Amino acid sequence: MKRIELRGCSEDQLIEICQRLGLQRFRAVQLFQWVQQKAVRSWDEMKNIGKKDQQLLSNHFNFYSLEKLREQRSHDGTRKYLFRLEDGETIECVLMDYERRSSRDRHTVCVSTQVGCPVGCAFCATGLEGFRRNLSCAEIVSQVLDITYFVRQEDPDFQVTNIVFMGMGEPLLNYDEVLKAIKLLNHDQGLKIGMRRMTVSTSGVVPNIIQLAKDNPQVGLAVSLHAADDLKRNHLIPMNRRYPLSQLMRACQEYTDITHRRITFEVALTAENAGEEAALALAGVLKGQLGHVNLIPVNPVTGTGMLRPEQEKIKRFAQVLESAGISVSLREEKGTDIDAACGQLRRQWEGELK
Ligand code: SF4
Repeated sequence: MKRIELRGCSEDQLIEICQRLGLQRFRAVQLFQWVQQKAVRSWDEMKNIGKKDQQLLSNHFNFYSLEKLREQRSHDGTRKYLFRLEDGETIECVLMDYERRSSRDRHTVCVSTQVGCPVGCAFCATGLEGFRRNLSCAEIVSQVLDITYFVRQEDPDFQVTNIVFMGMGEPLLNYDEVLKAIKLLNHDQGLKIGMRRMTVSTSGVVPNIIQLAKDNPQVGLAVSLHAADDLKRNHLIPMNRRYPLSQLMRACQEYTDITHRRITFEVALTAENAGEEAALALAGVLKGQLGHVNLIPVNPVTGTGMLRPEQEKIKRFAQVLESAGISVSLREEKGTDIDAACGQLRRQWEGELK
């Protein structure tokens, strides 16, 4: 009999399974709290569940936690983790803002949703490695739970407050598992992370942008835009060939019509695309959208050949957008002294194994 992934189970599923096993409802609620709220990593830690019930439950549930292969700590409080999954695949995950006095109440985890990524963006280390598989809901949630567990060893009151689905993989190509994970992370007997404090970032999977607005209008949306014309965007984000800019912008409009929520448009700036003309073209594409532009100067990644633009060029780019009435921010650099760009730590690890 295939055992069920414990960390991917909703409270209702646990209640149903426990009742089938002859256990009372309160046992299922206790189990859910140990897993999703207290973030324990073993049956032994579930103090109010007797050994006999633990044994019975472990016959039906697969309760695994992620193996921490590496942890890098940046001087700015960013912590980057390389985790090994049960089948030996590896994923990255980042905790941002920890240890920053000015943001004590905000601890954001950037989670992965796939092993590798099928989109293959030109500036991304994950894309360079190709696609292996989708993550299950349990594997997505585990990243947040295990980081919570590790940090609580030093700081027992630690709570993750925000989630960004911006790590390895395209979340909207693993739609059902991501949606289930969002519900679990939001559950009031779990980590209780507010829906509005979770953001899904997409390279532009048009049908699922609209679907997300209908299924969960509370969750935030970030769209990786990066270029304002199809030729350039085709090169940077191959997904654009399937869903070109005109379709993407229509989907964004529909998303905001349904949710009334502002979209964050992510724009990675490279030495090549940070010119004034590109900024003007971007302002044109975004006209009429309820959105905000987040500029991200790229981290140089070996193998992509992309260079970071000069500071002056970045400033000018932002000014052009602002003059066109578009709200702009510059993404604060995190973990520049560690391999903080998506996929770099995993690449380095796999390179060492070769
Ligand atoms: S940037 Fe995101 S969507 Fe693009 S290849 Fe990397 S992980 Fe995939």
